[in-house]
Amino acid sequence: MPAGASSSEPSLRVARVTHRTTAEGPGQRTAVWVQGCAIRCRGCINPHLFSPHGGTLTEPSAIVESAREAGDEGITLLGGEPVDQIDAVGELARLAHDAGLGVICFTGYTIDQVLARPEGDALLGHVDLLVDGPYIDAIPEQERALVGSRNQRFIHLTGRYSDYDPAAVPDRVDVRILPTGEVSIAGFLTADGVGKLASAVHARRIFKAD
Ligand code: SF4
Repeated sequence: MPAGASSSEPSLRVARVTHRTTAEGPGQRTAVWVQGCAIRCRGCINPHLFSPHGGTLTEPSAIVESAREAGDEGITLLGGEPVDQIDAVGELARLAHDAGLGVICFTGYTIDQVLARPEGDALLGHVDLLVDGPYIDAIPEQERALVGSRNQRFIHLTGRYSDYDPAAVPDRVDVRILPTGEVSIAGFLTADGVGKLASAVHARRIFKAD
């Protein structure tokens, strides 16, 4: 069992994990897409992650260990909705911090809604940068990287990423051809962009742990 892990740690339902990506925040990161989202914003790019029943149950300690082995600076939690699995996500964030990794968490809830949950403080105590708020398709973001609508906020809860300015960096897209021939995409793309890319490479979208 990895150091810091608990024998009774809650499992996290994960759709996909990608290591060594530079498309999901500053530096080289492990991106963790969780499965399940109760918010269901209109126009969400990831409707296949709405169901709470797909994905793979994974121990948070295993994700942290793999991020360390990959040499990543930190993890980025996205989805799906991380806060819908707040126990397991909180444990993942805690273990990541214990291992010296930075933590970025995207949520469709506002920070006040997260803090209103009994486990909210515990989770946010191990998040360096919270990106909050639902996707609102009526107010698309055109200046800042990583977010889809202008209401979404970058809230620095520690100084770890205080130099990161999403208005000063371009959106990146991480496209990988897997041994199976499938194409894995990370980073911010509009739904139209994903469709065009998938069409261009004659691929279908996949969302599973790799
Ligand atoms: S919170 Fe995120 S994953 Fe959930 S519906 Fe909104 S944009 Fe999609």
